[in-house]
Amino acid sequence: MTPKTFPQSEHITLHELADGVYAALAQEYGLGASNSGIVDLGDRTLVFDTTLSPASAADLRNAAEYLTGRPVDCVLNSHWHLDHVLGNTVFAPETEFYATTRTSEIMVEKIPENILELKKHWPEQQAEWAEKAKMAKDEAERVDYEDGVRFAQKIIDTFLQLELRLPDRTFTDRIEFKGTKRSVEFVTYGGGHTDSDAILHLPAERIVFSGDLLVIKFHPSLIDGRPREWLDILAKIKLLDPVQLVPGHGRLGTLVDVTSIERYINEILQMAEKNWGEGGTAESAAALQPPTFTEGWNNIEGFALNMKFLHEAVQH
Ligand SMILES: [Zn+2]
Repeated sequence: MTPKTFPQSEHITLHELADGVYAALAQEYGLGASNSGIVDLGDRTLVFDTTLSPASAADLRNAAEYLTGRPVDCVLNSHWHLDHVLGNTVFAPETEFYATTRTSEIMVEKIPENILELKKHWPEQQAEWAEKAKMAKDEAERVDYEDGVRFAQKIIDTFLQLELRLPDRTFTDRIEFKGTKRSVEFVTYGGGHTDSDAILHLPAERIVFSGDLLVIKFHPSLIDGRPREWLDILAKIKLLDPVQLVPGHGRLGTLVDVTSIERYINEILQMAEKNWGEGGTAESAAALQPPTFTEGWNNIEGFALNMKFLHEAVQH
């Protein structure tokens, strides 16, 4: 591999996984909010997922063009969640977008409404933080809230660009992209994290871009999906025997990290079943302590939401 100078971005950091294969990891205080990827097929350039914001996606697009020396030909959306698709809008009209048929349907159902909610939420959140900054009990708290106000403004600044860009091509099983340099497959095993999740698999390099089917040191979100099917999908990903995995959130990983998510889903399912079996409520499920092995994981607020969701799920 020839060492490359990567374009700098406040939103994403680039990692070369193989010659022409890059992970773009979300920076902690950037607007990316989820990981994405860039793959040079030799004669075409492919991008996997487009982050939360047009600002971070513009950096992703620039990086893809710089690193591969050509415009982005194809963009793949792993699933419908906003932090993986709202960057779609910054790509050129001739770029072809791919997603599963079901993901495309959910995008039509949910995203216009979600964009409206986002446009309502952030100005309110900013006003709340501005007010709290004025009443802060000390300097550190004031600085924290003022950072929040600036962060909210960065999001608000992208509102004019926010719009739904739908997939041009959909599939129900798998699509192979045969390039002059490598062949890759965009595959779905059904829905686990959402109603439909797809992964990008590079068989020769044994790399998987997993979307949110794998997240690392981060509470996965179970509330839009089907936890038991999720476990089946993770078993199928393990059979691909990847040596590198790019999760939807968190650092780069390996199969050990897949085991952590399996353990998480299994343990909290058992907790929800036990709580329900003992006559507990959704509230008592949500009030339980997360498993000790998840100490230090991000997205801690996701745990209570997962438990409330599982409280309902285990009754069916
Ligand atoms: Zn997601």
